[in-house]
Amino acid sequence: MSNTQGNDRGRATARLVAPVVARPTPPTIGSLALESAPAHEVSPEGEFECLVRRQLKLLGEDPARDGLLKTPERVAKSLAWLTRGYGLDATQVVGDAVFEETHESMVVVRDIEMYSMCEHHMLPFFGKVHIAYIPNGRIVGLSKLPRLVEVFARRLQVQERLTEQVAGAIEDVLKPRGVGVVVEAVHLCMMMRGVEKQNSKTITSALRGQFRDCAMTRDEFLRLAHRTA
Ligand SMILES: [Zn+2]
Repeated sequence: MSNTQGNDRGRATARLVAPVVARPTPPTIGSLALESAPAHEVSPEGEFECLVRRQLKLLGEDPARDGLLKTPERVAKSLAWLTRGYGLDATQVVGDAVFEETHESMVVVRDIEMYSMCEHHMLPFFGKVHIAYIPNGRIVGLSKLPRLVEVFARRLQVQERLTEQVAGAIEDVLKPRGVGVVVEAVHLCMMMRGVEKQNSKTITSALRGQFRDCAMTRDEFLRLAHRTA
């Protein structure tokens, strides 16, 4: 974890369209056509597999031994899946599931499972996302909120930016009176290497509109988000 935002392309926190746009051709990884196709292409024909084979060699492994023969293909396929968010965009994911509604109280969806990969080490970080918003004449189908999280989680990320991007997307789609997002996650780059902190959890939040301006709203949300079920 780090606060470094670098020259990240996802920085525009309220951007709806994923920075890497889906290509029109069906995705392939090497010679494989992907069934549950991520909408983007990880590499031209076979290039990714070659790279993984090379990586195995550099690690001192023998890519030709039995157990590793199909590894490059598997890694390419799995990385395409784990980064499929590059080919998704929030507007598309929400589709027409936005409804006119006069409901004016807070809507909270908590414990949305999240799996992402840290952009500094390309190791997983994962945990839960809690989302709340106060409608301003429009609500979104509840199942769309987890899908919005996927758009931004399934790419190389830092938790801070992920949190802001989810909040920004909800703000853009719904123009609500306020939106709050809390992400709590553990990072394998902290747990498996370096400091080896097994039990530390990173918590980030993004609060906008009434969630930022009104202490009561904010407290209610944070209480709901942090309540142990
Ligand atoms: Zn990391």
